[in-house]
Amino acid sequence: MPSQHDDCLFCRLAHDGAHVASTKGFVAIKDINPKAPVHLLIIPERHVDSFREIGEFPAHDVKRMLEFVAETARDAGLEDYRIEVNVGAPAGQTIFHLHWHLLGHRTAAHSDQAGDLTAVTEL
Ligand code: 5GP
Ligand code: ZN
Repeated sequence: MPSQHDDCLFCRLAHDGAHVASTKGFVAIKDINPKAPVHLLIIPERHVDSFREIGEFPAHDVKRMLEFVAETARDAGLEDYRIEVNVGAPAGQTIFHLHWHLLGHRTAAHSDQAGDLTAVTEL
């Protein structure tokens, strides 16, 4: 049961990338082309092509994956944010290894710059 695909970018990044956070089986990286001031990708180490195959994860790992999304948002200083999963090319999926987009603006307490709270609704 190979869970890592040699030709898959996110399999590589899950194992060797610059992780901003990680827990057993899951990592978070910065999106290379951010669409919000904070744009992270939550990636399971285990390869599944898309969210359609979520059932391949044991229930406990699905819970842990979602908790890791929430923890990563909190640790990134996000109070309000958007989670996005594109499923299938027509829906915008370009990398066929399951990943969760985490998009948001830091709260004032975590902000490096003033005015960071604006435009939350523009995500
Ligand atoms: P999708 O379009 O599949 O939902 O999301 C793929 C995301 O991966 C895009 O937002 C894109 O910017 C990001 N991405 C593509 N290649 C790389 C890369 O080499 N490194 C990182 N960190 N992100 C990438
Ligand atoms: Zn993969």
